[in-house]
Amino acid sequence: MGKIAVVLLFIDGVGLGEMADHNPWVTYPTPCIRQLLDGMPLVREAAGRHGSDLLLLETDACLGVEGLPQSATGQATIFTGKNAAREMGKHMSGLPFRRLREWVQKDNIYLQFEKKGWKATFANAYTKEYFERPATKRGWVSVTTATIQSSREPVRFFQELVEGKAVYHDITRTILKKTGMDVEEITPEQAALHLWSIAGDYDLVVHEFFLSDRAGHKQDPWLLQYVTHHYDRFLGELVRLKRPEDTIVLVSDHGNSEDLRVKTHTANPVPTLVIGDIDALSEVDTGAWDLTGIVPLLTRIVSRNKKTG
Ligand SMILES: [Zn+2]
Repeated sequence: MGKIAVVLLFIDGVGLGEMADHNPWVTYPTPCIRQLLDGMPLVREAAGRHGSDLLLLETDACLGVEGLPQSATGQATIFTGKNAAREMGKHMSGLPFRRLREWVQKDNIYLQFEKKGWKATFANAYTKEYFERPATKRGWVSVTTATIQSSREPVRFFQELVEGKAVYHDITRTILKKTGMDVEEITPEQAALHLWSIAGDYDLVVHEFFLSDRAGHKQDPWLLQYVTHHYDRFLGELVRLKRPEDTIVLVSDHGNSEDLRVKTHTANPVPTLVIGDIDALSEVDTGAWDLTGIVPLLTRIVSRNKKTG
């Protein structure tokens, strides 16, 4: 049984692009996504409602700030619910500088949930080595790491991973195995099962996938194929295992992998894909939807779950 669960899937560098040959989300097979979107791939045209419990929203990642959207401020906006790009005066890429890091560590979704007595967790597994690196010790960490570190909720390590109580960022542990760790690869379906098994103890569980952004920058066909194929299966199985009362929310921080013509990020809208309690959006102006809406949305869904559950 367990709690009514909300899963936040954060996928880096995936915009809603065109139905075109330069879009790997169109050209590579994504049968599970197409099944969810009435035959459409993950493109701008697919935005809208599909069935009674699925809504794909075009999400503005530019946030009224000049220039291409970037990871640090995009993620900071997703995880705080406040416009980090405007706050910092520009879009900031890569790992956040101290000012942005401290800003996200002051107030973010984990801390907001903690204050309400709700339980939220980050499902990704870290290696011990990661925290022993001098750069990590100096605070040179991603927004997603900085946010979970600011909360009382512990991060997950290799031990949790082998117990099926964590998910590796690449879903299948392929990259972890390549680094020489003594670990077996798993299928995306197994990873989906692991994510749901964590979800049973929490109100919100977050997973971060960033190979999509890397694949877009590198324009690497092997990696793009890996990303679209495995993420499609992961999402498909998460939806298959979802109970009617659970909700999955998928969001990205900026476009990139949906346009192979450029190595850079794009100004495309990103997806907010809600599968489950789409009624939580009924009083929201989804015409002006942007990344600041994710924290309020997740808060609203969990709050509604508390009432019914
Ligand atoms: Zn990037």
